[in-house]
Amino acid sequence: MRKPIIAGNWKMNKTLSEAVAFVEEVKNNIPSTDKVDAAIGAPAVFLAPMVEAAKGSNLKLSAQNMYDKDSGAYTGEISPAMVADLGVTYVILGHSERREYFGESDAFINSKTKKAFEHGLTPIVCVGETLEEREGGKFEDVIKTQVEGGLADLSADQVKQLVIAYEPVWAIGTGKSADEADAQSSCKYVRDVVKGLYGEDVAAAVRIQYGGSVKPENIKEYMAQEDIDGALVGGASLEAASFLKLLEAI
Ligand code: PGA
Repeated sequence: MRKPIIAGNWKMNKTLSEAVAFVEEVKNNIPSTDKVDAAIGAPAVFLAPMVEAAKGSNLKLSAQNMYDKDSGAYTGEISPAMVADLGVTYVILGHSERREYFGESDAFINSKTKKAFEHGLTPIVCVGETLEEREGGKFEDVIKTQVEGGLADLSADQVKQLVIAYEPVWAIGTGKSADEADAQSSCKYVRDVVKGLYGEDVAAAVRIQYGGSVKPENIKEYMAQEDIDGALVGGASLEAASFLKLLEAI
């Protein structure tokens, strides 16, 4: 059985004091890691104090991005080693906002995914189609290309360990969540692509999150779907009470 994973994605929000206060507020109420993996994807500058504040609790931290080089003359970038050294567990890679505003390609995302493993980080690899692509009948092509590109040359063991977040771009931050049957069939398609690449065992093990306007009011419907193993949550992860409600629904 796949263990559910709920990850918040704060994007470019909050101040340091708000970030630490959030951890203080939620840390004693995170369910057992036997039941669910719970993480917050926070801006890199908040990660060290958040890891410190979360010590001894079931809350894990995630970076929202990193570079694919170990060190060097890359002004403004943050290396996988730096992120790992902080005690961070996950790294979100290839979010649609990174693809759209920063031109991230599948090859670049794949390179970062490999680096994450080199440094003991668990990648959350994001895929998803735009509304135009969906309406143009390109859903399958787009998702297949992103999954194949993002996961290229990984070992079967690595694919079993990573998390794929399926997030239709038209559902992110819009309040227009995909209906649960749609989300299920899309996540199943992602799993089928993994099966085509790595076989039945790996496909059965890899955890696939749905993301896009998930909130406490609709998370149960998603989690009841066979191929949905968790959620990547933006807006509804920003308030402590709301994040805890998402976890309570599991
Ligand atoms: P949202 O964002 O929950 O605010 O739609 C999800 C995401 O971008 O990961």
